[in-house]
Amino acid sequence: MNLDLLAIAAHPDDVELTCGGTMLKMAQLGYKTGILDLTAGEMGTRGTPKTREREAAKAAKLLKVSWRDTLGVPDSDVHPSRDHKLRLAAVIRQLRPKTVILPYWEARHPDHYHASTLGYEGCFLAGLKQLPIVGEAYRPFKILYSTSYANVRPTFVVDISDQYEQRRKAILAFASQFRPKNNERASKVHLAIDHLEEEMNQLARHYGQMIGVQYGEPFLQKELMKVDDVVKLEVRSI
Ligand SMILES: [Zn+2]
Repeated sequence: MNLDLLAIAAHPDDVELTCGGTMLKMAQLGYKTGILDLTAGEMGTRGTPKTREREAAKAAKLLKVSWRDTLGVPDSDVHPSRDHKLRLAAVIRQLRPKTVILPYWEARHPDHYHASTLGYEGCFLAGLKQLPIVGEAYRPFKILYSTSYANVRPTFVVDISDQYEQRRKAILAFASQFRPKNNERASKVHLAIDHLEEEMNQLARHYGQMIGVQYGEPFLQKELMKVDDVVKLEVRSI
């Protein structure tokens, strides 16, 4: 399978929360997209891995992704070990994505920053011919970092105003996380996740405003952007 765009993240729902609108927008443009969850999210306080698998499948449908799977790394133990990197490299060779979205490399949750390193190194190793895994050597052309969870200045913002409602539905597909039954919510003390959905919605609004639209998702790339026509540059300065 040749994907145009693959988003890699630590837990099911990370992609929906950080770049779900962009994934949907690219699918609507006709690109073949996919999501690789490194873990099944089995350390989540609420719900079971089985529930989250069902929720992830529902969310994937809403975002019109062509492919979604879990790498099988244990939740809370994401790190760039040789074994994890080889497994990821095999998936990259199988899917041959042109562009890959990774989480930003600094984060509060260790799984998130390790997912960034593991993702980068897996993509790099996939291109080494002598690697002891099956498949033809392949390396993605472009790596983008989703900065939604990180407090850094992004390189660019994708306008997701038309995708925002559907992104919201995809996030809420993870009902066990964001719309827990009352007894489950009451039995727990403060959980960061109770504010996460709202925070991510506010962030989408914030980044939208920064580029003069309603909602947006921020990304960073290490390379400079190449521009051919400076007269057609978007986003008003004054
Ligand atoms: Zn996460």
